[in-house]
Amino acid sequence: MSFRDTVRDWLAENVPKTVENASAEERIATAKRFQAALHDAGLAGLTWPAEYGGQGRTAADQQVFDEEAAAYDLPTDVFMIGMGMCGPTIVDLGTHEQKARYVRPLLRGEEIWCQLFSEPGAGSDVASLQTRAVRDGETWVVNGQKVWTSGAQHADFGALLARTNPDVPKHKGITMFIVDMHAPGVTVRPLKDMTGQAPFNEVFFDNVRLPAGAVLGEVDAGWFAAVTMLGHERVSIGGSVRRRYDPLTYANLADLARRLGRARDPVVRTELAALYAAERALSLFNTRLRQEADAGSPPGARGSVAKLAGAELLWRAVRVAGLIAGVRAAAWDEGDPAAEELALAINATPASSIAGGTNQIQRGIIGERVLGLPKEPQVDRDVPFRELRVGTQAKA
Ligand SMILES: Cc1cc2nc3c(=O)[nH]c(=O)nc-3n(C[C@H](O)[C@H](O)[C@H](O)COP(=O)(O)OP(=O)(O)OC[C@H]3O[C@@H](n4cnc5c(N)ncnc54)[C@H](O)[C@@H]3O)c2cc1C
Repeated sequence: MSFRDTVRDWLAENVPKTVENASAEERIATAKRFQAALHDAGLAGLTWPAEYGGQGRTAADQQVFDEEAAAYDLPTDVFMIGMGMCGPTIVDLGTHEQKARYVRPLLRGEEIWCQLFSEPGAGSDVASLQTRAVRDGETWVVNGQKVWTSGAQHADFGALLARTNPDVPKHKGITMFIVDMHAPGVTVRPLKDMTGQAPFNEVFFDNVRLPAGAVLGEVDAGWFAAVTMLGHERVSIGGSVRRRYDPLTYANLADLARRLGRARDPVVRTELAALYAAERALSLFNTRLRQEADAGSPPGARGSVAKLAGAELLWRAVRVAGLIAGVRAAAWDEGDPAAEELALAINATPASSIAGGTNQIQRGIIGERVLGLPKEPQVDRDVPFRELRVGTQAKA
């Protein structure tokens, strides 16, 4: 039996049906059961090292899996940050002990991860973060606040950036830590966005103690760890048209145009064709980045191209949706779930050009690091962090 047949048969038998109006807890329980079964079948973490619970297979096999899985709505969104960002960073930078402890449970869906980077005063300029980690004997003591932390309310672990040395320039005194989200002193408060859902949170650290083994990478080399993770993040976000945005794919909008009798309109057809071409180009670009990464050549700054293109694709799809559905794209009749899902996807679209680094930030990265344009002036690059007027220090 070919690998493709194995994947196809397994998915046909094991993908759970979507349950309308399921609670968050029910969705997570379903996702965990599915992910464990996927791992037991030898189909989770296909290209991850076998030594730590992956399958050690090729990028071509991953491609086959993705092609077969595209026909399904896999319930795996809750694992996206772990599998797409934190896990790959642990594989890249973690010690043997960290890989042995965290990778297998992550691939089996037993433990959920979140990414604790952004703060109220440090988003695009995340190197200005003020959460502190102070060494106390064999442990670190963390105090501070994070914000916009996706999925923190469900997370077991987080990858945290904290300042460990304020006396050196801002990029040089940061460390990445693995944090137990159930540890004493961690408080998570959900934040609602304009769809009415709460996909992200604010997270407070109040004298949270971390063991020395919680450092991911080197002490004070957290910026390198952050850049490593952000590279994975951009590919992961750019590469996945997430379930939330499903109504905005070419296929679903073409179907909507047929159902609403708009498929013969020449403008609708032209726009749908352009959307299809953009979606296909991005999908091929992402495949290429993934294959290169699996072959040992990480995408680096080109992940920003995927991330930016993914966000712009959604905005293009929103315009096409408006053209096809008119007022139905903004408001819906009760009992019209398709229109409701479309409006929610449209409302969620602005987030796509902010999360994971804004479009402007991606353009800056592409200009400097892909196109080789001159660097933006950075007047604070060599100034000790303690002397910068950023975050709450701006008021000092
Ligand atoms: C849905 C969602 C999920 C998120 N999930 C997470 C998460 O899980 N973990 C996490 O740590 N963070 C998360 N974030 C936070 C996200 O990374 C930040 O919102 C983002 O980096 C922007 O930071 P900011 O909101 O502080 O905006 P700011 O940095 O204050 O930016 C404000 C505006 O200024 C522009 N700007 C800033 N600097 C420049 C510059 N140098 N050049 C040009 N323009 C500039 C920006 O493009 C933007 O338009 C999430 C955000 C969203 C929307």
